Amino acid sequence: MQVGQAKQKKSRYQRLLQDHPLCCLCGGATKSSTVDHIPPQACFPKGYFPEEFEFPACEACNGSSKKEDQIFGYYMQMGNPDLFTKDLWSMWKLQDGINNNYRTALLNTRLSNQAKTEALIKMGIQVPPDADLTNLPLAGASDEFFEAAKVIGRKLACAIYYRETGGKFLTRKHYIWTSIVHGRHPRASMLTDYLNRMLPEKEEGIRRNIKEYGRRFGYRYGYKEKEDFMISACQFGIGFICLTSSGLLEKGSKSIPSEELLTIFPTPDERAAATARAENSIAAEPTQSA
Ligand SMILES: [Zn+2]
Repeated sequence: MQVGQAKQKKSRYQRLLQDHPLCCLCGGATKSSTVDHIPPQACFPKGYFPEEFEFPACEACNGSSKKEDQIFGYYMQMGNPDLFTKDLWSMWKLQDGINNNYRTALLNTRLSNQAKTEALIKMGIQVPPDADLTNLPLAGASDEFFEAAKVIGRKLACAIYYRETGGKFLTRKHYIWTSIVHGRHPRASMLTDYLNRMLPEKEEGIRRNIKEYGRRFGYRYGYKEKEDFMISACQFGIGFICLTSSGLLEKGSKSIPSEELLTIFPTPDERAAATARAENSIAAEPTQSA
């Protein structure tokens, strides 16, 4: 980045923090001091992060998901079958980083015949007993991916809620539910048809000054103000769809265990621990740029 560009970016960030003085990820209780990219920048090849998806965050919230940002971004890029928006160089670089730092989180591209059969049956596809699935391009997601998707899903829920309600915060009085599904899953087309009908509002990512942004990121959402209920479906290319919903917890409700909410709404102690973790992981990743 050139000096002029860096300066421009700095003043844009300063303006954003002036206009949005509170962190939108921990209930509006903390002063914002950083700009968080949600969805993570790792979801896009360099230069393709959509505009206006930068949010005010405190250091703890921003720093608490460094690992999840990388893992989630890697799966979003690997999982996008759209050749038009795929960037092999960017994917390989990410894969290299994951391989160095979080090897067990890698996509498993060497599934056994048995594992593939089981996965297909889970998707509701009949497999003849003697089928040779060696050449079937089916890969397995790691547990770390699903953990990362939970954390990033919550960040997306907070950010979209903040963006679409004109600056309201999800707090400890709300629950957040998230889920992730791949667009090529046999049941996904039913789901997307349903969501397209259910969720009237649509936002598409854009990037000025870049040719052919393509459909790299967009979301649909619906909000019921009276119930303070929001649901959204975020689409990464034509690959993964991240679903979120949030609403008010009923008084005394035990349906969502409180630890499920902690990643995004940390207490001061949890915050300190998250910051320490983030600092350690930065120290352990000298090859990665932020
Ligand atoms: Zn925060």
